[in-house]
Amino acid sequence: MPQHASPPASPYRLFDVALKDKTPLSAHLWRFTFEGPEVGQMATLAPDQRIKIFFPDPQGRPPAMAITPDWYARYKKQDVETRPPMRTYTIRALRAAAGEVDVDFVLHGETGPASTWATRAQPGERLQLMAPNAAFEGDGGGYEWKPPRGLQRLLLIADETALPAVAGILEELAALPAPPETQLFIEVPDQDDEIPLATWPGLAAEWMARNLGAPGALMIAAAQRAVVPSAARAAPALAEVDVDEGILWDVSAAGDAGFYGWVAGEAAAVLAIRRLLITERKVDKASLNLMGYWREGRVLD
Ligand SMILES: Cc1cc2nc3c(=O)[nH]c(=O)nc-3n(C[C@H](O)[C@H](O)[C@H](O)COP(=O)(O)OP(=O)(O)OC[C@H]3O[C@@H](n4cnc5c(N)ncnc54)[C@H](O)[C@@H]3O)c2cc1C
Repeated sequence: MPQHASPPASPYRLFDVALKDKTPLSAHLWRFTFEGPEVGQMATLAPDQRIKIFFPDPQGRPPAMAITPDWYARYKKQDVETRPPMRTYTIRALRAAAGEVDVDFVLHGETGPASTWATRAQPGERLQLMAPNAAFEGDGGGYEWKPPRGLQRLLLIADETALPAVAGILEELAALPAPPETQLFIEVPDQDDEIPLATWPGLAAEWMARNLGAPGALMIAAAQRAVVPSAARAAPALAEVDVDEGILWDVSAAGDAGFYGWVAGEAAAVLAIRRLLITERKVDKASLNLMGYWREGRVLD
């Protein structure tokens, strides 16, 4: 009899989950703990590990896609108006042995399927997650936190949507024998959105409450005053990015140990920070990761 090898595991797979618990962390940030029979087979590779979450369809029916190898091709063939909406989130914590995964949601009002679901959700409600597959051998990607080994200085600029990733990054760094000198600028909706974060003597954290100000304005002002190294050479020309039509995702894993910057939040603000840091302040582009996590007034996913 010929031996048939089983097909190789894919880097990402679909998981059925149910909401176990939802807990407030701050005025706008809530922790959602999901449980599922196969969450033990989920993996997370970095503190900014991104996942896709599928929400109830416009009729309110929970997502129930069959977990088959071709599920994503089948999803894409469905009518955009009637299929379960998909949005991008971050794994805040995975307890694979307990079959639980935490995702921190910004509740920004009932304006999109994710925030609407999160505002109303009750324990027991079912969703589906596309997340890394522990059975995959290798690095399946889906994260951009790739600091150079022996990093000396770090700049983090983020808003509340990237706060879950930042909280995980700080936990990882605080556990190092010699964490880098770090400047953190974190913009949140209001003063009640400050949450406890891991810290160490070389971390300078600045919370910036926008109150009713424009999203991202405080992040841009922070990029102006951040202490950054200027490259000796001329700044490179930057490719145009239309943040209303596409996704701003300007990432690099090529920096050296001297300095590394990780910037994520409202896309037009991150675009302005990209120009400010690279063109005006001449920071080496190779040492920066710049990511648009959402775009004011638009739907990105
Ligand atoms: C890699 C990555 C990781 C992310 N991780 C997280 C995470 O862990 N937690 C989290 O909460 N978000 C996270 N986000 C952001 C999240 O995907 C977006 O905020 C998403 O738009 C929310 O979907 P929605 O259905 O609520 O709104 P959408 O349907 O996408 O948008 C509807 C309206 O709401 C506005 N809107 C969207 N998000 C916000 C917001 N935060 N504040 C105010 N207005 C908003 C839009 O501009 C639009 O006008 C992440 C994004 C990326 C790319």
